[in-house]
Amino acid sequence: MKPLNRIVIAGGGTAGWITAAMLSFMTKGTSTAVELVESDEIGTIGVGESTIPPFVVLLRSLGIDEQDFIKSTNASFKLAIRFEDWFKKNQHYYHPFGTLGGLIDNHEFYQCWLRAKAAGHPSELQDFAAATVMADQMKFLLPFKAPRTMIASASYALHVDAKRVAQYLRRYAEERGVTRTEGRINRVRTHPDGSIAGLDLSNGKVVDGDFFIDCTGFRALLIGQTLGVGYVSWADELLCDRAVAVQTENTDDDADVHPYTLSQAQDCGWRWRIPLQHRAGNGYVYSSRFLSDDEAVATLMRQVKGRPLIEPNIIPFKTGMRAKMWEKNCVALGLAAGFIEPLESTAIHLVYRAVDYLFRFFPDADCDPSLQAEFNRRVAAEYEEVRDFIVLHYCTTQRDDTPFWRAAQRTPIPASLRARMELFKATGILRQGLEELFGAASWQSVYEGMGVRPARYQPFVDKLPMSVITETLDRSAPLLKAQVAGLPHHAQFLRDHCRAE
Ligand code: FAD
Repeated sequence: MKPLNRIVIAGGGTAGWITAAMLSFMTKGTSTAVELVESDEIGTIGVGESTIPPFVVLLRSLGIDEQDFIKSTNASFKLAIRFEDWFKKNQHYYHPFGTLGGLIDNHEFYQCWLRAKAAGHPSELQDFAAATVMADQMKFLLPFKAPRTMIASASYALHVDAKRVAQYLRRYAEERGVTRTEGRINRVRTHPDGSIAGLDLSNGKVVDGDFFIDCTGFRALLIGQTLGVGYVSWADELLCDRAVAVQTENTDDDADVHPYTLSQAQDCGWRWRIPLQHRAGNGYVYSSRFLSDDEAVATLMRQVKGRPLIEPNIIPFKTGMRAKMWEKNCVALGLAAGFIEPLESTAIHLVYRAVDYLFRFFPDADCDPSLQAEFNRRVAAEYEEVRDFIVLHYCTTQRDDTPFWRAAQRTPIPASLRARMELFKATGILRQGLEELFGAASWQSVYEGMGVRPARYQPFVDKLPMSVITETLDRSAPLLKAQVAGLPHHAQFLRDHCRAE
């Protein structure tokens, strides 16, 4: 064994500092040193503010006090994504966090609901998702504070200020021994076998290491520009290739501090709104084939609420992933590793997920190829799952009112998604692997929201008397609604419990 002595992280955006924080935690008490190089002059992308529930789990696993984190980053809570105008104009649905209904006499809730629905039951699937009902009423309580109620079945994530998250995690990592070096990387030096030897900075500093993590964002200085690892493009499957982002002041209206991320379909893509305690993040993700930058900016600015705090920022992107995330002695994370439009807020998640895999397949200085191969296979599978889930939102739309939406309906559907959809359409079965990110409630919510319902339910559900199903449905939906009605408004909850001192 030749243990890794020096791990160098290139780049200090959200990806770099999440990685540094996780490495500082894992390498504590070992001889491995971790150094992060970043350039204030270049800065970070400054977007990426909507997370999913495993982010909260990550904070806990690092021993970070959640309330302190929320106060320091001016975060707000996220129970769901509200999709407006995606299936058809003037229709909306929620993708909630947590579970959807409970078992009915040991039968899967969704299957029971399908049977009731086939018999004409009037309920909607989301009537049984605590997170949806809370999001819709703009209410919030930490679900574990309501044990023995239906609210306990909700889950939550955070809306965060990207810059403050990086600062917070930087402090965390530096306190645990990570060294930060300021400077622009001018040159990446390699060994004769092509592996990376060190980074030469424009201020004359030299940073050597035996393992490198490329978090340099879309530049991909190490994995792309130096090691020449190619990019698998998914531009045919997903048409959007640009975003315009702008931050706005909060309004006085508590309803604007919604406990969900808003995703509203537009003529040539979709618009997001992410409320934080001190401001909101807004953006329009669009396809340059159908919309100019000027039109995108004008469309976004017509719809934002509150005074703009910065000039609108245009961000071009290429949808896809690196052919290999780990090559020689370098692993790419974050935007350097790939990018899929942020419709389901998955990019930050893919960073810590990949770091988790890196810990699982942690190498010594020899970087055994079998570890690399398995890491690359697992991480690629995660990206492909996210791609499939995002394509699902487009390929099921019934919108055909603009050239963009007509083109979106005709984009190729990946074979893996086609297989998932066929299986689901048969009897509502999900084609899931062992470690998939999106659980049953996620797929069922988006399918239902996009008008895809299975042809029939699973035959075993017929064993249950129909009265047991309808009595459960008729009792639980009003009960959930009443329980949620008694909760504090999300904005009030933030003022009472999470405001920075
Ligand atoms: P960056 O933030 O670009 O950081 C790159 C770092 O590398 C910087 O520190 C920079 O200074 C450094 N660097 C680069 N070149 C050099 C050099 N030559 N020398 C020294 N340092 C260098 N994700 C989500 O999970 N949820 C969302 O809601 C979400 N929304 C998004 C919206 C848009 C429009 C986009 C484009 C992305 C979004 N993402 C979202 C993705 C998210 O922003 C990124 O995954 C996350 O910010 C990580 O970025 P990064 O750290 O890889 O890159």
